[in-house]
Amino acid sequence: MAFEGILFDVDGVLVDSPHERAWRDTLEELMRGPWKDLAARSRYTPERFDTAVYQEIVAGKPREDGARAALEYFGVPDAAAHAAEYGAAKQAKILGLIRAGAFQAFPDALRFVLDARDMGLPMAVASSSKNANELLARIVVPEPMPGIRPDPLGKEPGTTLVDLFDANVCGRTFPRGKPYPDIFLGAAADLGVRPEASLVVEDATSGVQAAKAGGMRVIGVARLGDEELLRAAGADLVVTSLDEVDRDALARGTLARVKKAA
Ligand SMILES: [Mg+2]
Repeated sequence: MAFEGILFDVDGVLVDSPHERAWRDTLEELMRGPWKDLAARSRYTPERFDTAVYQEIVAGKPREDGARAALEYFGVPDAAAHAAEYGAAKQAKILGLIRAGAFQAFPDALRFVLDARDMGLPMAVASSSKNANELLARIVVPEPMPGIRPDPLGKEPGTTLVDLFDANVCGRTFPRGKPYPDIFLGAAADLGVRPEASLVVEDATSGVQAAKAGGMRVIGVARLGDEELLRAAGADLVVTSLDEVDRDALARGTLARVKKAA
């Protein structure tokens, strides 16, 4: 079945955003300072909060769910009661990082979005993060894109990443967060496409699970060496870069990896 539209997660797919750093630095500061006593009664150490833990436990979830999951993972007593404080401190931290410009778009993702646009595929962005729009609006699409024909879009100078999408549900509150499918079903509805004819591009296990729960096909983007996790979560194709996705196959509604040059 041909794809009617593509739904993109933002953090870790389109944008190399500073969420992981913000979650990690915030917890370290809390544990060294106001939560010193809690730290002593948990199994938290800064070293234990590595990228694999971030990807599996925190990434993709709504803020307070992610905060609670991390605190539970580290055995912090009364994790649920501390999640709001951790989530709020993390939010303050990431706003500082965003305003300092501590992020960039992934070039392979920009190429993929522009190619999909050339194919005439409607596209939506669907991040649980309330910060996604601010990130997307701060990334000016390069003109011309390296390796791409000049003026691929006939777009205005100063077009930002957020302008490339036909629908945007980032930060909208849905009844249930990922791994439930609500956000992707909402994005498909806004785009006017059927879930079963939608393609989701995700980097987090919770997001892959959300897409599969919505009856969609999914590309898992394993930028952090977590191919196995994404495959286990049900991704239909796992790549380490979106440059690996075969564009001709995509246009026909199938998912395949480009053949490596001999
Ligand atoms: Mg993500």
